[in-house]
Amino acid sequence: MISFSSIQHRSTQNSTTITTAVASSSASTTNRTFLLPHHHTHKFYFNSPPFFQTVDLPRRLCIRAIDAAQPYDYEAQLVNRFSQSGKLKIAIIGFGNFGQFLAKAFIRQGHIVFAHSRSDYSSIAQSLGATFFFDTHDLCEEHPDVILLCTSIISTESVLKSLPIQRLRRNTLFVDVLSVKEFPKNIFLQYLPSHFDILCTHPMFGPESGKNGWQNLAFVFDKVRIGNEESRLTRAETFLDIFKNEGCRMVEMTCAEHDKYAAGSQFITHTMGRILEKLQLDSTQINTKGYETLLNLVENTASDSFDLYYGLFMYNKNAMEQLERLDLAFEALKKELFGHLHEVLRKQLFGKSEAGAREVTQ
Ligand code: NAP
Repeated sequence: MISFSSIQHRSTQNSTTITTAVASSSASTTNRTFLLPHHHTHKFYFNSPPFFQTVDLPRRLCIRAIDAAQPYDYEAQLVNRFSQSGKLKIAIIGFGNFGQFLAKAFIRQGHIVFAHSRSDYSSIAQSLGATFFFDTHDLCEEHPDVILLCTSIISTESVLKSLPIQRLRRNTLFVDVLSVKEFPKNIFLQYLPSHFDILCTHPMFGPESGKNGWQNLAFVFDKVRIGNEESRLTRAETFLDIFKNEGCRMVEMTCAEHDKYAAGSQFITHTMGRILEKLQLDSTQINTKGYETLLNLVENTASDSFDLYYGLFMYNKNAMEQLERLDLAFEALKKELFGHLHEVLRKQLFGKSEAGAREVTQ
């Protein structure tokens, strides 16, 4: 067998000379011919005994030494076998709180997880069974099937712009899990070439609310752009199946619809949680069920980063309207309370004289 790990290729006017620096030639070299791109006479120097033997070859050459191509065949076979396994190579960009939480489920279901983050999470990744890459170039050269953006909402655009997407396969699937949806959809469409697929998603739960499993928890998705080749459709479905398999309630809706609903539900929930957090509520011996719910709400929302909450406000155009509605509702409630109080006070202060005046007029 002849290994070609180090080949020097010299061309002269009449001949091309190739010298291998590998001494693993066991068979006779003279009975082998090689096809090279140029139609020159080729001379080969092998460093197996006799060292640097020159072999003159005829003009048109063809490879008969099939062992030369074997390493490539082997790699291709591995890739083939993996793609037939129905498993994905998922690269999580942003391996913080939520990225790690998702990685556990992906790995549990047999997918291969790569991770990259601004901070060093290599030992956490290793303990979870994922491979951590410090450099996004190295990560992209692994040709993941899916790039999953799991960065804070406010950093997502700069992170996406910094990815060396030219190193990816031509039709890689981009997915995001941001808690707002129109914003990532727009930046994906703006920065990604048209041959990349786009799936915008939002798991409506987090490490706290999903710690006991994802059964019946909502998972919102919008297939923004999925090519109609079988393999691309299957890839997107395989990714969605991860959440289906965990028991999520799959909800397909547009990114715009999501943002409208989420501002009225999720943003309000987080805002109430953060207001209550500022009150520094204490647990007491006489907690009611309702009060326990409030304490849980604080725990659920305060454990998320402020970046996340700020992102819900800044990157959902419906959030400001909800904040104003909340303000108005609080004012209206206070007015109602003070109105009642005012009536009681009035009765106490002027009750008798007003009653007397009414009798006179009757
Ligand atoms: P987050 O504070 O929203 O995001 C933290 C992640 O963003 C970390 O991976 C962090 O990297 C990265 N990051 C922050 N600033 C960055 C910057 N300037 N440059 C590069 N990376 C930066 O907290 P999270 O809970 O992990 O959420 C991640 C994403 O998931 C968010 O988009 C959020 O909306 C979404 N999501 C979260 C939940 C949840 O319950 N937590 C639920 C659904 C969806 P380092 O850690 O390396 O600094």
